Amino acid sequence: MSSLSPSPRVVLDGIPAYVPKPPQPPATGVSHRLFLNENPYPPLPSALATISRAASQTNLYPGIFPEQLTDALARKLDVPLSHVVTGPGSVGIYQQLGQAMLSPGDEVVYAWPSFEAFPIVVRMAGAVPVEVPLTDELHDLEAMAAAITPRTSMVLLCEPNNPTGTAVGAAELKRFLDRVPGHVLVVLDEAYFEFCQGPDAPDGVELHRDRPNLVVLRTFSKAYGLAGLRVGYGVAHPEIAEALRKCAVPCGVSRIAEQAALAALDAESELFDQVDRITAERERLREALGRQGWSIPPGATNFLWMPLGDDSDRVAAALERRGLLVRNFSGDGLRITVGRPEANDLLIETLKGLTSVR
Ligand code: PMP
Repeated sequence: MSSLSPSPRVVLDGIPAYVPKPPQPPATGVSHRLFLNENPYPPLPSALATISRAASQTNLYPGIFPEQLTDALARKLDVPLSHVVTGPGSVGIYQQLGQAMLSPGDEVVYAWPSFEAFPIVVRMAGAVPVEVPLTDELHDLEAMAAAITPRTSMVLLCEPNNPTGTAVGAAELKRFLDRVPGHVLVVLDEAYFEFCQGPDAPDGVELHRDRPNLVVLRTFSKAYGLAGLRVGYGVAHPEIAEALRKCAVPCGVSRIAEQAALAALDAESELFDQVDRITAERERLREALGRQGWSIPPGATNFLWMPLGDDSDRVAAALERRGLLVRNFSGDGLRITVGRPEANDLLIETLKGLTSVR
């Protein structure tokens, strides 16, 4: 046998590796998952009934594309069918975007810190990340526009931003989009759209109507509470949408996921009551922690950002000891998902005992 061995693409060297590990024993005691921005409430009874009906058909493949869901989304959003793309979560659509729209050497402009998938999608395609620092935890759209060069083929924009939760207003976003040259694709990630509902909140689907270079991504994982089923969608003009569909994994959205998403769309008013509860809890947390002296930027999502800098490890460890599992961006800050009221009470109580050292 030859001593040569197959080598993965060199670009994968720049991508964090997942190292398989044996399953961990279940944690003892109560713990609260506040690290993935999940909806803390279980699926609604109507969604559960639909899921179990669809489960009886798992011997069958789903459609190559989820046609019922695509149709329901097109009607809900008032866009032609040809504008809707779906994927196994919106991260699935990011992979499609990388394959369909990026070539080696292309520059991709995005803010940092922002959604952790951005550098992965860009590097995976052999494209070049151009990271523009946030200013005061907000997108610096002026600097992002200035970072666009003739080599730029894509701009990634997470609005509101993960992990800071901050949102730029519709007018500012429109001004930015108007400055982006038509050949540059703007991907507007609205994973937290449903939590961001002020009079000045942008609506990417409306913005896309007269902007053929805009793709909007949304998901059933957050407000709709279906993170475990992996279903997200995008809205784009037909040429881009068609390219994304060409790169989709066939049958990538399961029948269970499709049926649950349809049930969630039907139960929107109940789900939006939950969204209101989560938003109210977010504001309760922000006010309580603000009174304790923690500085937390106003957010428009289902999580809060604590910009703790070097203090983030100490605070994350103290929270973990009380069963509060948050996302630590070591050296930058903590992203804390808004949980159920009892988890939020525990968070307030625990942080009260810790003084900010910044
Ligand atoms: N975009 C953003 C900004 C997110 O925060 C997340 C989830 N953390 C996603 C996309 C991925 O969502 P999905 O479950 O639809 O893949």
